[in-house]
Amino acid sequence: MARRVAVISDIHANWHALEAVLAAVEQEQPDELWCLGDLVGYGPRPNPCCVAMEQRAGLCLAGNHDLGVLGALDLCEFTGDAVEAARWTRGVLAEGSRAYLSSLRPNARRDGVELFHASPRDPVWDYVLTPEAAAAALELTEEPLVLVGHSHVPLAIALQNDALAGGLAPEGTEVDLSGGRFLLNPGSVGQPRDGDPRAAWLLLDHESRNASFRRVEYPVELTQAEIRERRLPDALAERLAHGL
Ligand code: ZN
Repeated sequence: MARRVAVISDIHANWHALEAVLAAVEQEQPDELWCLGDLVGYGPRPNPCCVAMEQRAGLCLAGNHDLGVLGALDLCEFTGDAVEAARWTRGVLAEGSRAYLSSLRPNARRDGVELFHASPRDPVWDYVLTPEAAAAALELTEEPLVLVGHSHVPLAIALQNDALAGGLAPEGTEVDLSGGRFLLNPGSVGQPRDGDPRAAWLLLDHESRNASFRRVEYPVELTQAEIRERRLPDALAERLAHGL
């Protein structure tokens, strides 16, 4: 079993954010990198993000946007800007990227860990943002650690002695994973929604039983310029400055 694992999610074709996160991950030299899905959708650089994950990720899930771009999900289930971006992504997606995304599934299991793009109730669409959703996610699983993405909000929820504790996990949050079960969301690399525009990632240390929530700055203006050059909806560029 990998001792130290970097966990990322929701890259959304934001290459500059992914590059910054991969550089930060590199400095920690983890044994493995895991990605919880949504490599593409919203953002302007889908192909380099797919190539990087194919090369670097020891485990990678499919997210709802990946499946929407592939045509495995009906785009009428998406909101306006997401539909426009998904249609654009379909048109520019390289054959290799398409093949890689097609090989991914929205959930997986490793020694002591269950992973879902969204949640155990619905690995593709369900948002775990409330204590009820977190409780359901922990009830439907059995491993000590449950990892989810999809909401773009970093979370650390503990189930200890039948009680839920925890919540938002801003930069610098350190969680002791011994004694209890935990649901963690690393937050989003390419479109954070917790008010912090910096790219998010998570470092897990299975040996010391520690989870460390990290953020890294990246040149937001370069991704914004790429979004505008490709005439994707301007709101998708604007929101990156605010992390919303
Ligand atoms: Zn997403």
